[in-house]
Formats: sequence, C-alpha cells, structure tokens
Amino acid sequence: MSLDTTLDQVARRVRAASSVVYLCGAGLSVPSGIRAYRTGPDAVWGEYVLEWGTRAKFLADPAAWWKTFWLGAHAEVLRTDIAPNAGHRALVELMRRSPGDLVVTQNIDGLHRAAGHPDAQLIEIHGRHDRFICASESDCPGVAQPVSRVDLSGLDAGVFPRCPSCQAPMRPLVLLFDEYYDGHDAYQAHRARRALNDADVIVFIGTSFSVGITSTAVRSAQVSGATVVNVNLEPAPVPGVLELRAGAEVALPRLSARVLA
Ligand SMILES: [Zn+2]
Repeated sequence: MSLDTTLDQVARRVRAASSVVYLCGAGLSVPSGIRAYRTGPDAVWGEYVLEWGTRAKFLADPAAWWKTFWLGAHAEVLRTDIAPNAGHRALVELMRRSPGDLVVTQNIDGLHRAAGHPDAQLIEIHGRHDRFICASESDCPGVAQPVSRVDLSGLDAGVFPRCPSCQAPMRPLVLLFDEYYDGHDAYQAHRARRALNDADVIVFIGTSFSVGITSTAVRSAQVSGATVVNVNLEPAPVPGVLELRAGAEVALPRLSARVLA
C-alpha cells in the first residue's frame, strides 16, 4: 500500500475514534537534532548508558553520575537551542481537534511542551530533563515536589546538589533503568495504562518498541482490538499494524491535514 493510501485509512480511523493515544519515542526528536538512544549508527545508548543510567549507580557516587552520565550522555537534550519539529506541531493540532486524545511520550526533552502541547493531554512517562527531586527513600517533601533548578557548579570538586529539606542528593526527575513507572506520580503511569486500555486507535511514533510502556500498549491493543499504527522508518516488530513508513516530521503533518480536513 502506498503511504497516501495508508494515511487515508489511518485518518478515517482517527476521525471515527472516541479516543486516540499517540505513543512517542526518540525517533520523533531526531529531526530536532537529538540522537536516537538505542538504534541507528549514532546511538549513544550502549553498555555504558545501561550501566550508568541506574539509581544504584547514582547513589554510589552522585557527583560522578551527574558529571559523567547526566551531563555527558544528555548534552543534546540539555542544549537551549533545540526546537520542536513539524511532527511535534502536528501532534498539537491533533490534540486541539480532539481534547479526549492523549500523547504519551518517552522523550524527556520537553519538545512537546515547547511546541505548545496542551498540558492536560501530555504524559511524559519517562520524566523530564528540566525538573529535579530529592533522591531520599523516606517521605521527604522534596521527593514529591520537583524544582526547576539545581546547582551543578561544584561537580568538578565532587560537590553535588543536595535537598534543602533533608540533605539527600538531588536527582533529575527521569525514570532510570532499575526503576518502575509507578516510582513517581509525575510519570502518570496509571493514567497512561488506562488510556491505552480505552483507546480505539494507538499510534506508535518513532519508538523502538523496546521499553515497558510499548509492551503495555501492544498488549492493550491485542485485548481491546484497537487499531495499531506505526509511524517509523522501520516496521513494527508485531503483526497487524498499519505501517506509515516515513519520518514523524513527514507523516504526522500529512495525517493531521487529513484528519482536520
Ligand atoms: Zn529530601
């Protein structure tokens, strides 16, 4: 089937659906200059990241973790000049058309919000790079109340940011490899699972299908019979999927134009 034929078919399903969930991965932000984590020749997520991207490693040496892992592996996300692309903007149009629809994103880069995405229709399931919390396992108020700034100026001297309430190390509000989606309310994992169970259409966008939330989405669709769409240069590793074999920045504006027509 040609891309146009499949786009027409997907647009019809989206228009007829009472709820659509768009599940976004790193591929959506590649045109904005942020490298995909796990796939492609530029992938930065090798053994190194799997080893360092854990709570255990953070607690073992917070200063080294902030300097080596956080500032080292996330240089592109932390740049201030990154901008959303046509894929992010098309999702905003789709959300405004249908306030019951939802984007669940694995991306911590904040580009959905930068594109003007409505807050109530966005779940950043892996957290966000620009919020920080207390890493204590006790009930310190700094765990539930993210702040937008930490002082990283002392890292070279081994000084890491500490919680003003309890002096535990401060950490980014992002899901690490040895943590669970339910580990912090900000990830809204329960709401995401419920939305995936209730969706008539689930659109995977630029995701490698390799994380927990994509497995949840595939299982939800198998149970509910929801239409599954894959916007990606690579085909989905599961059967019965409507494939839009194009980059998100190409396919999503064309989909949005058809749905809004
Ligand atoms: Zn604390």
